[in-house]
Amino acid sequence: MIKKYKFTLEKGSEKFICPKCKMKRFVKYINQDNGDYLGDSIGRCDRETNCGYHFKPNQLINCEIINIEATIKTTISSYHTDSELEILYNSNEENNFLLFLESLFDYNKIERIKKIFKISTSSFFHGSTVFWQIDEKNLIHAGKLIYYSKTTGRRYKTFENTSPVSWIHKINKIKDFNLNQCLFGLHQLQNINNLTQIIGIVESEKTAVILTIMYPDYYWMATGGKQNFKESMLKPIKDYQIVAYPDKGEFKDWVKKAKSLNQLGYKIEVNDWLETIDYDTGTDLADVILELKND
Ligand SMILES: [Zn+2]
Repeated sequence: MIKKYKFTLEKGSEKFICPKCKMKRFVKYINQDNGDYLGDSIGRCDRETNCGYHFKPNQLINCEIINIEATIKTTISSYHTDSELEILYNSNEENNFLLFLESLFDYNKIERIKKIFKISTSSFFHGSTVFWQIDEKNLIHAGKLIYYSKTTGRRYKTFENTSPVSWIHKINKIKDFNLNQCLFGLHQLQNINNLTQIIGIVESEKTAVILTIMYPDYYWMATGGKQNFKESMLKPIKDYQIVAYPDKGEFKDWVKKAKSLNQLGYKIEVNDWLETIDYDTGTDLADVILELKND
């Protein structure tokens, strides 16, 4: 006897927005008895390699659909679309961070790093910088907005009484965006075909960018915060040689974390160069390197 499935993927229909990658490539399951959809998140994304979302009807057994919808909302990370990135990447507005870099480096080097990291510009604060967190499968996890001074290259801590650090999903008011951060620069993993390649980890996006200009032999990635030097963020680069450069004052904490990660099979060395020289706590590598460069 031929088994007849009661639920099938809808054939020949217009595609819907995928709950995971937000592309209009989603096919929903229908109930063959009445032609109804099983739910907005129950179906398959046809971007098999780049997304892979597939929620099968048999996963519904013993579950209330409503619970599953709620679970999906909280556990599946949201992503930005390529076009959201392109709009800000192709902005003609001036970018304070890139202007600052232009005062220090050749224009072609700035163009190169702009492309590598897809450094973008937002008009939310005039000339503010967007650092996209793109993973090794080119999924765009987040767009972090930071506002720099074009003369000093330092970030504004406050601007017109608000904090000028934000996220593109907040600025664009994307509903139910489930932020799941990845390392800034992680997408470079696609270019690394040798496990002995050294990946340099720093805290700030700005440092990762500047070090990429000055030390292009390493691939530089940033955690985006000292608390983000952790297993969930570093997992994709577990098999590589990692050298971590904590900001001044974070050395002991990162050594402790590196030790426990190394017990899980990571190969992390924590560099103490910044610790041994006389700078204030909180100083980051980029500040020191730029200062030495100017001497
Ligand atoms: Zn998808």
